[in-house]
Amino acid sequence: MTKEIMASKGHLHGWQWRESEKAREKKERAKEKHFGSRGGEQQKYTSLEFLISHDLAGLYWGIVAETKGAEINVFYENGYYLCRLDEGLSPDLTKGLIVGDHVTLKKEDDEIYVDHLLERRTVLSRLRKDSKRWTDIFSFHEHIVAANVDTAVVVVATRNPPLHPKFIDRFLVLTQHNGIEPVICLNKTDLGQVREDILNIYRNLGIKVIKTSAFTQEGIGTLKDVMRGKTAVLLGPSGVGKSSLINQIDPSAGLRVGDVGRLGRGHHTTSSSALRVWERNSYIIDTPGVRSLGMWNIDARELQSYFDEFGKFSTLCKYPDCLHDERQSETICGVRNALSRGLIAEQRYKSYLKILKEL
Ligand code: GDP
Repeated sequence: MTKEIMASKGHLHGWQWRESEKAREKKERAKEKHFGSRGGEQQKYTSLEFLISHDLAGLYWGIVAETKGAEINVFYENGYYLCRLDEGLSPDLTKGLIVGDHVTLKKEDDEIYVDHLLERRTVLSRLRKDSKRWTDIFSFHEHIVAANVDTAVVVVATRNPPLHPKFIDRFLVLTQHNGIEPVICLNKTDLGQVREDILNIYRNLGIKVIKTSAFTQEGIGTLKDVMRGKTAVLLGPSGVGKSSLINQIDPSAGLRVGDVGRLGRGHHTTSSSALRVWERNSYIIDTPGVRSLGMWNIDARELQSYFDEFGKFSTLCKYPDCLHDERQSETICGVRNALSRGLIAEQRYKSYLKILKEL
């Protein structure tokens, strides 16, 4: 194979800046062990060489639907194939593959192998608390949930669990930061209590809002329309009805639908990410319920750029590096001034402050 090998860049290694020196050294040693010469026998690729650009993919490439240990379930043309990594590759590279990854395939003796990872167009990631290392400041690290996602459907419910706009705001920052188009889906409309005032805030920001009920099937057609021909992910707290909606879109999915907990908090009903094809070129990635959604790798200055409505008012701030926090008075901060005049939704500003304090 004479493929030009590309060096990895961008998102794939974006998390490394948070690593401690010690963790980095440990990783370097592990890398040497895996990719260095073993008993005189040279490994075929390094982890960097595993990654290639999309233009070099050729005809045979598929999409990672699920990874389980050394096995990779790949969707290719119109079926799923259980593959392994090419023999020359360290089996550890499987751990680096995520749902939605595009990979090249080769067939040998009736077996299909994955031999390259194609550069990711987008990654969707969130913070994960590593409970085993909770005393370590670096225990929070970027956790990639899915690759090559075009649209993120942020699912919330009218009630049971209750609608928290702050949750939507966090997802909007996350999707914009990752270059993914967000769509808001308010499910369980059959339970009433549709807060149009909250939905209007997002409509006014130019974000598509869909109202659905997995029970009455209201809005399912519209939801399908925004997901058609794309790779979409359904995000949202447990219990809002993500599995029920996926079952409506793709009846063959047969996902287990969970109960909503007594306190209105959903149980964790989905355990690992998986990709499903529900129509030609239309994919759904189902991810585990997101319980805590931290922000990382976002600069305090960058955060405001994800609150579009601040834009024109921030140009009126006295200081160009103004962060529009509570310490700023309305006379020097254009955003706080606009807030006091009701030109910016208070709820959005509160979400902004809360995220800002965590950075
Ligand atoms: P997930 O955790 O987000 O995947 O949510 P599930 O699909 O497991 O649903 C959680 C609970 O909400 C289950 O008891 C569902 O039957 C219920 N549910 C899901 N969609 C709707 C809906 O549109 N209306 C109502 N009333 N309940 C729903």
